[in-house]
This record gives sequence, structure tokens and C-alpha cells, in this order.
Amino acid sequence: MIIRQDLAPVLPGKNCFGRMNKKKFLVIHQTGNAARGANAQMHATYQINNTKYKDPREASWHWQVDDKEAIQSFTHDVSCYHASDGSGDGNMHSIAIEGCINADGDYKKSVENMARLAAKILKDENISIMNMKQHYDFARDKKNCPAQIRSGKDGIDWNKFVQMVQGYINEKPIVAGIKVEKPKTDKELADEVIKGIHGTGAERKAKLGSRYDAVQKLVDEMFKPKPVVKPKPVPKPVANKTVTDTYKESGTFYPNDTIIVRNAPSTSATIVARYYKGEHVKYHTVHLKNGYVWLQYTRGNGQQAHIPCRTYSNGKYGTLWGTIK
Ligand SMILES: [Zn+2]
Repeated sequence: MIIRQDLAPVLPGKNCFGRMNKKKFLVIHQTGNAARGANAQMHATYQINNTKYKDPREASWHWQVDDKEAIQSFTHDVSCYHASDGSGDGNMHSIAIEGCINADGDYKKSVENMARLAAKILKDENISIMNMKQHYDFARDKKNCPAQIRSGKDGIDWNKFVQMVQGYINEKPIVAGIKVEKPKTDKELADEVIKGIHGTGAERKAKLGSRYDAVQKLVDEMFKPKPVVKPKPVPKPVANKTVTDTYKESGTFYPNDTIIVRNAPSTSATIVARYYKGEHVKYHTVHLKNGYVWLQYTRGNGQQAHIPCRTYSNGKYGTLWGTIK
């Protein structure tokens, strides 16, 4: 038997009470629908579609199981509408299984699968088999459910069913023969949508059920055009020379403010002169060092001097403090 999820939306007040289930009981039902095709998937799909109506039918249950698979519609924290006991323990604090009785299914296999699923849930949720109940036990209207088990169809009455569940609980490993199918991730479903597996519009919404919003968001993101990354502008070197720390270049610098001149290209070097607005200096070498562009020139006394003309760091040039010709 395969176990998988096909979750229905949780709409408190519409199709359930909300997430408040203390998981005290496991309640066994049979669907009452013997029509061909009334299998687990049909009932799971019914629970998803039920919420789309303005006035959804006030009925919901956690699991449906047929002769091939068990499908989960609600996680166990949800209090569903199934036990006909208002806000009693049946609805509020139990987990419900509907066993399928569809004419095109194998009835005995379906009941065996329900017993396997019941054993797994009792074990997983640490519920005593004494707290596995019939819908009838809770129903205020004494509804005859699970009808086929209560009437002992095919030799399986309630006592026999309880024995079967106990047998599966005793199996090592617990409940052999169950294959739990991992729920698909939103990404996997989005990939399927793009391949066209889930149709479009209303069909896609119906097929994806409670997963629709998250999956559709991913699909939209996958189709969004990627932002174009602009290349960073390459800083222009002084006088269009290749940027290296030091390079030969001749020119005349006209400062537009007072600038201190030093004997080396560093603000911690010795001050050797000052240049003022209106003066000019003929330089022969450029240094990109220590936060500035330094213009090196030869002084009248033959010594070398360095005048900063703009800031420079990490390839970024500041405004030139004057003009260069
Ligand atoms: Zn029932």
C-alpha cells in the first residue's frame, strides 16, 4: 500500500474547526459510496474541491484509503467534521479514516489497508488501540458507520478488524508493506507545472489544491526576466594612461587652491614647498599612492618633489584640484 498526501485547504469554520486536535481517538468510517470509481483519490479530490463552493459541505476527514493506497487530506493537528458529535471529542480530538467500498475495488484488500493505516497512525501518534472507535460510538444520530464492518461483510466484523489492526501493530518492522511516498516539494510541482502536467487556470488550481499559491509563486518567479547586471565602469586613468602605481607622464598642473608639496608621495613625508592658485608646476612622473595622485617634478635646486592633485583609492579618482595641460 502506498501512503501519500494530497492536502485540502484548511478553512476553519468552513470545512473544519482549525488546528486544535489533541489526537485522543482514531475514528473508523466507511464512505457509504459503493459507486465505481469512488476510490481514495476521488474522495481526496472531493475534499479539495469542496472548499471552492460558497457554502462548502460541512464534512472533512484526515484519510481515505482504498485497495491500493491511503491519501491524507488533513494533517493530524486539524479538527475535522466527521463524527456527528458537534464539538465533542469525536470531531475535535480524533483522527478520521474513511475506508472506500467502491464496486470496482477489492473490498477485503481495502479493509486490510485501512487496518494497516490504522495501526500506523495509532503507533505514530501514540494512541491506544482501546481508543480506536467507530463513527457510531460518537454519532449523536447513531449513524450506522462503518456500515460494512458493523454488519460483518466478507467475514470482517469490528472484533475481527480490531484483531487485524493489533496484528499490524505487532509486525516488526511496524506495519510492513506500507510505502510512504514523500510529498513533492513546491519546486518539483513547479517544474511539473512548467512541463504542462497540471494544466492551466482553474484546472491547475484544482489539481494543486492547497499547494497552488506556493507553487504558482515559484512558477511566476521562474518566468520573471532576470535583471541584467551592468558591468562596472572602469576608472579612467590620469591622461588616459594604464593604471600602475607609478608611470612616466609629462604635463603642467595649475592648482586652484593652496597645495602642500612633499619630498615623497605620502602625506607623512617632509614638506618641502607650497603651490598657490595662479601658479603652475611642470611634472614628469605620476604616482597613485597613499590615497592620492601625486605629480612628481624636479625643483629648481635639483631635488625631487611631489604635489598631490586629487584623491585616489581603490581605483576611484576624486575631483582634480585644478587643471592639467
Ligand atoms: Zn462515518
